[in-house]
Amino acid sequence: MIQIREPGQRRLSRPVMLGPVQIGGGAPVSIQSMNNTRTADVAATLAQLRALQDVGCEIGRLAVADEEDAQALPAILRVSPLPLVADIHFDYRLALAAIQAGISGLRLNPGNIGDKTRVVQVAKAALSAGIPIRVGVNGGSLAKDLLAKYGSVTAEALVESAGRQIEMLEDAGFYRIKISLKASRLPVMLDAYRQMAACCDYPLHIGVTEAGLPGLGSLKSAIGIGTLLAEGIGDTLRVSLTGDPVAEVRLAQDILRLLELRPGGVQIISCPTCGRTKIEVAALAQAVQREVAGLKPGKPLTIAIMGCAVNGPGEAREADLGIAGGQNGGLLFAKGEVIGRYSEEALLPELLSRIRALVEEY
Ligand code: SF4
Repeated sequence: MIQIREPGQRRLSRPVMLGPVQIGGGAPVSIQSMNNTRTADVAATLAQLRALQDVGCEIGRLAVADEEDAQALPAILRVSPLPLVADIHFDYRLALAAIQAGISGLRLNPGNIGDKTRVVQVAKAALSAGIPIRVGVNGGSLAKDLLAKYGSVTAEALVESAGRQIEMLEDAGFYRIKISLKASRLPVMLDAYRQMAACCDYPLHIGVTEAGLPGLGSLKSAIGIGTLLAEGIGDTLRVSLTGDPVAEVRLAQDILRLLELRPGGVQIISCPTCGRTKIEVAALAQAVQREVAGLKPGKPLTIAIMGCAVNGPGEAREADLGIAGGQNGGLLFAKGEVIGRYSEEALLPELLSRIRALVEEY
């Protein structure tokens, strides 16, 4: 069932710490990603972690697929720029090795980690180490009996799968739990998270699994993650795109900024253009986009580029800087005031110089 919250109100979850990062309990929604390097390749893994940190990733995750990966962890953890989660499938002994190496968190897949005694052993070790465990359900690896019971990957099957492992952890006295219920179909994923959000207060790691390539995959991720965040659901997120994980973190930043859950960044508002358009809106917007790419003002900066006097002055006034097209040029607005009328040739250089000045000020 969907919980109706006031706009901007987030589901209250219990906090867990992942290294220095608080997840849940009202903390800002954190961004995580997962390396696609072989963990045993320490140099490549560290280089990618640094690249992820550079674009704003806050938590890294590494596949620990075999003994060689587990043996590489101490060298990685010694200098990792990010707190790290070990992603474990099939072999609970790798989880124990990761804890021993000093990992900040674990992700276990209830569909393939094995029986209760193994989960309890891992829980006890994680409890002693003071680290959280994510119960990471994935539609692609649901237990066979659940697939048989529900007929396919359904929200109920994902929730029941998570519930089984949560129960095992709680029975072992372990409550530093995070939950994810990822599916590649948006309606299933949304429904599963809504159901889980309504029945427990554990923090939720949200994401659309196997979303695909940047492009449609970005759109899919933004719809799924954005819908949940807009409903107040989600404490940490990972965008899953095929390719360089740096793109995942960039998209995650954009999602959080556009929902105003994270300050900073530049937002360009430009009209779709129509028969009334008086200026080259697309060319102006592209030039502004090139100018602001990579800029990180300390406060959100909104720039409006509007083609005519219908909605132009209104949007331009609301923005930090804005243009409203008119006959042979347009009006330039700053902080709600008209600061001049410029010819079409003069509009762009004037706008760009004012953007630079504002970014400096912010
Ligand atoms: Fe058309 Fe003016 Fe609206 Fe742009 S702002 S879409 S030019 S009516």
